[in-house]
Amino acid sequence: MTERIDGHTLLIGLMAYPIRHSMSPTMHNNAFAKLGLNYAYLAFEVINDTLPSAIESIRTLDMRGSNISMPNKQKVIPLLDKLDPAAEMVGAVNTIVNDDGVLTGYTTDGIGFMKSLDDEGINIRGHKMTLAGAGGAGTAIAVQAALDSVSEMSIFNIHDASWKQAEKNVALINEKTDCKATLHDLEDRDDFKKEIQSSFIYADSTGVGMKPLENETLVDDPTWFRKDLVVFDTVYAPRETKLMKVAKSAGVEHVFNGLGMMLEQGAAAFKLWTGEDMPVDYIRQILFDDDKK
Ligand code: NAD
Repeated sequence: MTERIDGHTLLIGLMAYPIRHSMSPTMHNNAFAKLGLNYAYLAFEVINDTLPSAIESIRTLDMRGSNISMPNKQKVIPLLDKLDPAAEMVGAVNTIVNDDGVLTGYTTDGIGFMKSLDDEGINIRGHKMTLAGAGGAGTAIAVQAALDSVSEMSIFNIHDASWKQAEKNVALINEKTDCKATLHDLEDRDDFKKEIQSSFIYADSTGVGMKPLENETLVDDPTWFRKDLVVFDTVYAPRETKLMKVAKSAGVEHVFNGLGMMLEQGAAAFKLWTGEDMPVDYIRQILFDDDKK
């Protein structure tokens, strides 16, 4: 790293709280080093009161940009000059690009979802998706999938704070895209089963399956799953969630965790800042070497 840093090095930030656990600095700095790019990526604890001055510092210090994570993804929007159409629809930003003082906000989580499926040779365009959850990840997935021509989407949510977001997502998708979206109550098990069984892909973006809910899943009956259904869980710790175990026990061939999505959302941001393709396989090895042991 010290060999790379000089007077021309461009800074990219990550502004969130908490953030010290993040894998993004390792991901991006290794990718810069591998490609010989003169950038450095650093994490900054930024929250509420400090967000406006932190965003202004992107201009002041002529940083190339920043990632934005919780709790700043929505709050950052009024501080930016422009929004990419997907970020506007999602109502959240995870990547900022600074072009000569003009700050544009993007969202790359949904791109990461679609790209991770493409990487596996799975094309969900023109097909029906059932999606559980309408929080940050669910909204990004729903919007990008609809923009990318998924033909039909059944969104399921519980009646918590995200129900309103789910209503917004469905209305926006129907208004702005050719995808036909409908909202469903996650408590209606017969309806949930019926929609999954008529789908090409079932994606879970609720985080059920992640600690402390690692022994839980929204679908525990393997008979709900056809062998040729695609099953996707946004969770990547643990690597194999309860949902994935149930799907595998049903003989489902294409079962994925959120690792590919996480890598590809980073790769999409990397491309926006540098114009280069992140060496994703190399980075996967560095970040998740332990998986092979
Ligand atoms: P969030 O809090 O914004 O949204 C959570 C969603 O799950 C909401 O729709 C909520 O109604 C629903 N939900 C919560 N508890 C539930 C329960 N017990 N039963 C049913 N539904 C429930 O969270 P988020 O930021 O969208 O993250 C969700 C998950 O996605 C987390 O596990 C997170 O780690 C993961 N994630 C992965 C990636 C990736 O790149 N792989 C990116 C973002 C988020």
